[in-house]
Amino acid sequence: MPAARSRLSPDIDLDGDGKQTGFLRLPHSVHRSAYGWIPIPIAAIGRGAGPRVLLMAGNHGDELEGQVALGRLIRELQPGEVRGHVIILPSANFPAAMAGSRTSPIDGGNLNRSFPGDPGGGPTEQIAYYLESELLPRVDFVLDIHSGGSSLTYIPSTLGRRPDTPEAMEQALAMMRIFGAPFGYLNDVPLDGPTITAAAARAGTRHMSTELAGGGQVTPSALRIAEGGVRRVLHALGTLLSDPPSAEHQTRLMQVRGQDYYCYAPDGGLFEPLIELGAEVDAGTPAGLIHAHDTPWREPATARFSRRGTVICRRVPGRVERGDCLYHLATDLER
Ligand code: CA
Repeated sequence: MPAARSRLSPDIDLDGDGKQTGFLRLPHSVHRSAYGWIPIPIAAIGRGAGPRVLLMAGNHGDELEGQVALGRLIRELQPGEVRGHVIILPSANFPAAMAGSRTSPIDGGNLNRSFPGDPGGGPTEQIAYYLESELLPRVDFVLDIHSGGSSLTYIPSTLGRRPDTPEAMEQALAMMRIFGAPFGYLNDVPLDGPTITAAAARAGTRHMSTELAGGGQVTPSALRIAEGGVRRVLHALGTLLSDPPSAEHQTRLMQVRGQDYYCYAPDGGLFEPLIELGAEVDAGTPAGLIHAHDTPWREPATARFSRRGTVICRRVPGRVERGDCLYHLATDLER
């Protein structure tokens, strides 16, 4: 039996030349709109034969830098600067983006935990299915721009799945240096995973992601890294013919290899961080105190790091529950 076709359809020609903007239509029949569709913004900028690149953000709706950067790119990028095709999807989980939320308010779906998706599932599953079955297979490279979102803040980083061959490894690390974030790290995503990183590997499409700053806001410095990085990647792929801005940072190449890189709240309460982003820590270093504001005479619980590493990510909201991620580490890349 052939695989079911996605119900999503673009109202623009993704293979056409010139600049086109429009919507991916996701049929959605609800009380206020019996025959309606959810309008997911999409743009295609193309000129002739050449590399095919997908730029996306808003995979998590509360990760804002990429959504701003890609909107600006749609307005600024001219077909005359392009060779091949650039498809731009600035708010991939559009219902989540409109709610300013990591997950969709319609179905609770976390797009980046929904791959390979389901053509007959809720909107989030359907978006994942469209990406995995139609968009990823038609491009050579996907850049998926994430950030810390509402609950985390990062030292701006690029990341990707640890490649399977030495050649692919050098290619991935070169692209991290070209993007020009302060850090770039490889992780070990299993091929059957629910993220777009795994979906891209399944589709045989080169992939890179980012973790820009986050914290529920946009900063000028993170945006500059995002906007410059996107243009540098497009230029390196041969898609952008005009000169991109030069990178402001040399990328320190890192890895994140297991659960011991993450530090979690051992109790619920008020989180007092003891460590700043960028710090070098050891196993056992106190990471934060969790204060019991219902019983403030109790000694606070101490969260400790499980291993040595560099702190690249920290939780933002002060109120925590047991199991919330407080920090995560990276260590220098070992090949
Ligand atoms: Ca994310």
